[in-house]
Amino acid sequence: MARHVIIGAGTAGWNAITTLRELDKGGSEIILVSEEAPYSRMVLPYYLAQSIGESHVYTASSSRLAELKVETRIGQRAEQIDSAAKKLVLEGGGEIEYDNLLIATGSSPLKAPVPGADGDNVHSFWTLSQAQTVTAGLRKEARVAVIGAGFISFTILNALVNRGAILTVVELESRILPRMVDETGATIVEKWLAERGVVVRTATKLSAIEDKNGAKLLKFENGPDLEADLVIMATGIRPNIEWTRSSGIEINSGILVDDHCRTNIPNIFAAGDIAEGPDIVTGRKAVHAIEPTAMLHGRIAAANMAGDDTAFAGSLLMNIVDVLDLEIASFGAWDDPEAEAFEAVQPDRPAFRKLLFRGGRVVGAVILGKTRDIWTTNDVGMLKGLVYTGVDLSDWKDHLRHNPFDVKRAFLAAGTAGQLLSKTVLGRPSVPAGEIAISS
Ligand SMILES: Cc1cc2nc3c(=O)[nH]c(=O)nc-3n(C[C@H](O)[C@H](O)[C@H](O)COP(=O)(O)OP(=O)(O)OC[C@H]3O[C@@H](n4cnc5c(N)ncnc54)[C@H](O)[C@@H]3O)c2cc1C
Repeated sequence: MARHVIIGAGTAGWNAITTLRELDKGGSEIILVSEEAPYSRMVLPYYLAQSIGESHVYTASSSRLAELKVETRIGQRAEQIDSAAKKLVLEGGGEIEYDNLLIATGSSPLKAPVPGADGDNVHSFWTLSQAQTVTAGLRKEARVAVIGAGFISFTILNALVNRGAILTVVELESRILPRMVDETGATIVEKWLAERGVVVRTATKLSAIEDKNGAKLLKFENGPDLEADLVIMATGIRPNIEWTRSSGIEINSGILVDDHCRTNIPNIFAAGDIAEGPDIVTGRKAVHAIEPTAMLHGRIAAANMAGDDTAFAGSLLMNIVDVLDLEIASFGAWDDPEAEAFEAVQPDRPAFRKLLFRGGRVVGAVILGKTRDIWTTNDVGMLKGLVYTGVDLSDWKDHLRHNPFDVKRAFLAAGTAGQLLSKTVLGRPSVPAGEIAISS
């Protein structure tokens, strides 16, 4: 019986487990090694908002893992891979032999390297344990400073505001969401936040965090000091690759994988935030530290570990976030400097579109609009579909150049939905995780 060892119980690891069981119904050995229990980081903002309890954060209970015949080593860290002997070495010295190994150890948050960054009431918001600390410690009307105005920071803004925090967001770069929207989009979002009482300070570099009368005093290289009761550092993440460095696995920003999620070493696969795999738009390899890529990679890796020959065309970079009822999304090569960009802003409401064309293909898009506007919701999905499928829109290009808001007709006329339907990950419908059963 083949033995699959999976390292990491996040989205990539869990999707690999369910896919393996979907395919082999229990006909292999699965060992899960993970520092943390299986849960989804993506739902932590809802936990912070107190709209879900802790039990809803977990993706699998120990009894469900036992039902799926998964042997677990939760709370243990992988430390080294001996690929010649096909062994995984655990922290503390244990060893596990494998036939196939999946590395799905995700990424870790980085804190701004300033004095005081490790002090009391200065937290990252990445793990469940960090989320527990922040959630429990957050008082109504607490003054909260969020350092970093990127995607992760924006995923928690709603929760912080809804819990009554008085918010200041500080960004080193000259605009908010610098890796998600351009200058025009960022200006609309900044205005939206200001109108809702969120203070935003851009082009501001944190230099130290000091203690003052039981609160925190933030010092900057430019601009006035800021007092806060709680500081959240959302200043970037880094793939957890360090422990794999002695293994002979090829690494760039992440672990390099091919279109089967294979590394350069036979029988070793990587998936999710840690993997640098094909990007569907550019064809180049990239780390896409987002949930859909973790899910896709996990399923592809598992299918190949199970003995299938399953390739994927690449993952799509996409970031979608709702901030105080303003929907912000970007897809693919949204900042491609060599693409032709068609954009428009509505004069009467916060609404922005940008479509980036290379030839007849939309390679990237940015959309901004009120969450409750039907056209925003529909168009987010349609723009994603256009970028993901790469359908030929040559006949519609001129129309979209002058009317970037009118994507619906182009989407339908190009038969995009039909192309999307054929793009199931494993080439057939998947079984919901709760319905996967082991043969007796
Ligand atoms: C607050 C927040 C909100 C987010 N919102 C979104 C969103 O709206 N949309 C979106 O697409 N993405 C979102 N993300 C990002 C998304 O959660 C990640 O892309 C996703 O979790 C990646 O899954 P993964 O399985 O690769 O890694 P992870 O989920 O990070 O899992 C890694 C696993 O590996 C384990 N591990 C690490 N090192 C070791 C080791 N040496 N030995 C053993 N185990 C180890 C960890 O304990 C963990 O179980 C959000 C993230 C956060 C923190």
